[in-house]
Amino acid sequence: ARDAGGDCFVQYSNALNTRAQERLALEAQLRHAIERNELELHFQPQQGLTDDKLVGFEALVRWRRNGELISPADFIPLAEESGLIVPIGDWVLAEACRQAKIWSLETPRKFVIAVNISPRQFHHPSFLRRVTETLSESQIDPSFIELEITEGIVMRDVERTIELLEDLRKRGLTLAIDDFGTGYSSLAYLKRFSIDKLKIDQSFIRHLRPNSEDAAIVQAVINLGHHLGLSVIAEGVETANQRELLRAWGCDEIQGYFYGRPLSADKATQFIFEN
Ligand code: C2E
Ligand code: CA
Ligand code: CA
Ligand code: CA
Repeated sequence: ARDAGGDCFVQYSNALNTRAQERLALEAQLRHAIERNELELHFQPQQGLTDDKLVGFEALVRWRRNGELISPADFIPLAEESGLIVPIGDWVLAEACRQAKIWSLETPRKFVIAVNISPRQFHHPSFLRRVTETLSESQIDPSFIELEITEGIVMRDVERTIELLEDLRKRGLTLAIDDFGTGYSSLAYLKRFSIDKLKIDQSFIRHLRPNSEDAAIVQAVINLGHHLGLSVIAEGVETANQRELLRAWGCDEIQGYFYGRPLSADKATQFIFEN
């Protein structure tokens, strides 16, 4: 860097180095997050629209790093790139099963706990074995657990995915396609995937008004899902208006700040007894 643009280059490369170093430091800390007990699950309630009852929770991971709660948006991508998502995903599933077991002992009511599965985790050769082991160790009915997978996941290696989804479903788990409508899945494949539920992405719900383009898309997805024998849930529901539109269009379930924010396990238990 001895030419005219030299200083510029040095600064740029320093900035890059700092960025890379921060990343490495974060990755090193994340590597120990499990053994240090720094991960926790929060649970966001889901409401059925036929009788307004609590039907389940989505498990959302948080990282308590030096006392500060870090959102998954800030470390799941890093975990995915570094491969740490595999042990983290194992931990999340085991923890969700543990919570399902506790709730099943505390109440006869039945809730599903939805667990997010990332691409690298899903396509890992031992994924099916890990899920099977975790379920049998936790001694819960597999139907308590729902796996949320994205369109990106299912469109990679379609033939193998079709088989894997069938195997998971044979074991009694339920399967949902997360963020539906934002990915690039081909509708033609939808009938070949052995799934139970479509989860409409919050980007279609945020500005939902009658007769809008979003309304057309949301209604079409609800009808598509129902004609394929799937149930449909909408995420990111923040207002009573949004809920009533979705109800009128026959959507089965909602999740969002309007019904409830993600809650700590204790608060979620309280929510169960109050709803
Ligand atoms: P997602 O699966 O689409 O999860 C929904 C996100 O929307 C959550 O953010 C949730 O807190 C937020 N949300 C829920 N209701 C509302 C609402 O009414 N309005 C708005 N504006 N937002 C709402 P969170 O918890 O930060 O999670 C972000 C993403 O991180 C998730 O998106 C999911 O892709 C990923 N993630 C979370 N937990 C896990 C996990 O255990 N494993 C994996 N692989 N990914 C996870
Ligand atoms: Ca999700
Ligand atoms: Ca989602
Ligand atoms: Ca999303």
